[in-house]
Amino acid sequence: MGKCPVCKKGTLRKGEIEEAMFGVSLGTFQAEICDRCGESFVDEDTMLEIEAEAKRRGIWGLGQKITIGKSGNSLVVRIPARLARFMGIEAGNEALIQPEGEKKLIVEIT
Ligand SMILES: [Zn+2]
Repeated sequence: MGKCPVCKKGTLRKGEIEEAMFGVSLGTFQAEICDRCGESFVDEDTMLEIEAEAKRRGIWGLGQKITIGKSGNSLVVRIPARLARFMGIEAGNEALIQPEGEKKLIVEIT
């Protein structure tokens, strides 16, 4: 068993981790877990398994780059169709929009 590359003190032991993406559970997967800091590491094959499960559940690639548009004096953030379907957002829904720091925008569907 190897040493933990994060805390450099703990030992990595085989175990299982619960993996989730965008709040959706993808199940449990084999991992090596640090007995000291709790950091977990998965190998290449497990990464591919996690990716395949996320694709099967239709949530792979929901986070994506967009370009901010312009409408009159306002700027427009388009919500991609797949993301809108995943979240059940429709035109006409109300939302609260607010900054979180200078680089993050929170859009909360109300
Ligand atoms: Zn560690």
